[in-house]
Formats: sequence, structure tokens, C-alpha cells
Amino acid sequence: FNEIPSGFPEPGKTTVYDTSKTIDLENVPLNGGVLVKTLVLSADPYMRVQMREADIESYMPPFIVGQPLGVGKILRSERDGFKPGGYVYGLLDHAEYSLPSPDVPVFGIRVFNPEPGLQYSAYVGAGGMPGQTSYYGWKEYANAKAGETVFVSGGAGPVGSLVIQLAKQDGLKVIASAGSDEKVQFCKDVGADVVFNYKTTSTLDILRQEGPLNIYWDNVGGTTLDAAIENAANHARFLECGAISQYNSKDGVNMKNLDQIYARRITLYGFLISDLAPKWEEEFYKVIPKKLASGEFKFREDITTGLENSGQAIRDVQIGANTGKKVIVVAQE
Ligand code: NDP
Repeated sequence: FNEIPSGFPEPGKTTVYDTSKTIDLENVPLNGGVLVKTLVLSADPYMRVQMREADIESYMPPFIVGQPLGVGKILRSERDGFKPGGYVYGLLDHAEYSLPSPDVPVFGIRVFNPEPGLQYSAYVGAGGMPGQTSYYGWKEYANAKAGETVFVSGGAGPVGSLVIQLAKQDGLKVIASAGSDEKVQFCKDVGADVVFNYKTTSTLDILRQEGPLNIYWDNVGGTTLDAAIENAANHARFLECGAISQYNSKDGVNMKNLDQIYARRITLYGFLISDLAPKWEEEFYKVIPKKLASGEFKFREDITTGLENSGQAIRDVQIGANTGKKVIVVAQE
């Protein structure tokens, strides 16, 4: 990470590929920790939230050296429970090798055994942080009842596509939106009943036809949230997961329907995965990787190869050019 962007991150400016630092794999002191070879890294929407001035408060610390989520292989270890040859998942340096700390709350590295038949990269997508977000939020707040209607924005991403599948499993009618025809097709493939391209179709028109909404899973915020409020059923639950339409702009939007929050008795649940992890993490790892490996739950990856291309991968997620969970393959085992 090199420079705070004013709009979308720009590879070569916001982020640079730096080859000046090397590490002596045989002799670097571990100080009781582990040395990890990075296999895959994740490019996530939240990274844009970390590209900010150090004195602006938010839920993740600002980027200084850049630590994305990733999967790696342990090369050397002085730590109990971390055996060389094992896989770890968590915050790794944005580098080919790192000496990560297991002690960062929630996202500190943890050892995992990949489910047979499931590629380890899935553990940064549907089988990792984004999938956990869907699972924890849905279980904790949706209070879903068969026959209800849910709208999922950002439906084709790792978070949205798992929410669609959880909602279908609970017997709901699912409306989903995404930003390209290919993504619309993927939302249909995972089971959504009504899907539209929000760039070519009016969100308001669709929600007026297909609503009212008992649940809204909000990945994008902005005018889409306003349209969902206008089409909410009485006592609707809004799961406020993200607001990617606002991450790269300081302009804000004119919300016209805020008065309907009280009139329709809407409950808004803003949540962060880190709050819900202690309650749901164990269940998630028992249930979801198996369903992904068996194909019962579908997921899609969009792979960038090479650490030198990760700046572009990070930008792609912000502008919507990713066609699935954006994964940066750094090395083979
Ligand atoms: P995705 O992989 O789906 O990538 C982000 C997608 O957002 C893009 O591909 C793009 O898809 C869409 N997008 C970009 N700009 C806009 C816009 N202006 N309006 C509408 N859609 C836009 O992301 P994830 O599935 O990983 O994450 C989804 C959301 O969940 C994000 O908001 C993220 O910040 C949030 N999140 C929240 C967590 C929490 O703890 N609360 C944890 C993890 C994620 P398209 O082509 O459809 O526009």
C-alpha cells in the first residue's frame, strides 16, 4: 500500500509491487511464531475502507503495510499446534512469505484441514470470511420464515450468493441484483427467483412489482437501500452488511424514504463479522465447507495470478470487474 486514493484505487499508485525486501527462509528468527509461505490472498471490498488517513476511525485499522486475508503453508514453526506442512488461514502479509501473528482477534491465523474435494482458496471465499459473514448475519438476524420475500443486493459476490442459497434453503422467495448479465445468470444458478441487472433495470420498478420485502440483505447501501426502504413490508428486517456504492466516493446520496423506517417499523441490523464470530464460527466450519465440497452450495472464484497483479485485483473488486470471489494466487505448494 503506497498512497491513499481519492476515488478508486489505482495499481502502481495506490498500490505498488515492491521487490526490494527479501527474507532468509532458513534463518529468519521465528521468536516463538511461524514462517508461512503465501498460497492465495483475498481481494475484499473492506480493503478500500482501510485505505484512509490514520486518524479516521473505522472498524478495521487503516492499512500501513497491508495485510489481506490469505491461505498459506507453514514452512517452519516454534509454536504449539502449528506443524510445518499444515495450512493456515487469516491475516497474512501482502507478500510471498510472512511471519503472521496468531494473536490478532478473530482474524489471527488459524490452522485448518481443507475439506476433501474443496480447494484451499475457498477458505478465503465462501468457506472463509465472506461466507462467514453470510452465515452469521443470516442466522443471527434474518428471523426468516418460509414464504417470506428477501432482496439481496450484490447477489453474485461471495457474500450475496451464499445468502441467496441460505434463504432458498429456508423457503423464501429471493430477489437479487447484480451488475452484469453474467452475474445475473450466476444468481439464477444458485437459486434466486427474480434477478435483475441494476445497471440496465430500475431497482425501484422491480421491487414495486416483486415486493414487499420482509428482509433486505444490503451489500451496497446508497439509493438501493432507499429503494428497499420504500418497498419494505411492515416489521421488515434489514441486514446492513456493507455499502460498497459509497466506499469510493465522499458525495453521499439523498435518501428520500428514511421516514418509512418508523412508519413501517423496520429494524436495521448493522453488524460486523467480528462481533458474531464467537457465537457462530464453530458451527460454520462444521456445516459450510462440507456443503461447498459436495456441491450442495455453489460458489465461484475469479482468479488473478501473481502478487504483482494484486493492485489490479483490489481495484477490480471496487469497480465490479470481478466475476466471482476475487482470489490472488501467489504460489503453488
Ligand atoms: P464482491 O466480491 O461481490 O465484490 C464487490 C461487488 O460490489 C462488485 O463485484 C460489484 O458487483 C459490487 N459493486 C461495486 N460498486 C457497486 C455499486 N456502486 N452499486 C452496487 N454494487 C456495486 O464482494 P463481497 O461479496 O466480498 O462483499 C459484499 C459486501 O459485504 C461488501 O459491501 C462488503 O464490504 C460487505 N462485507 C461486510 C462484512 C461485515 O462484517 N459486515 C464482512 C465482509 C463483507 P456488481 O457487478 O454487481 O456491481
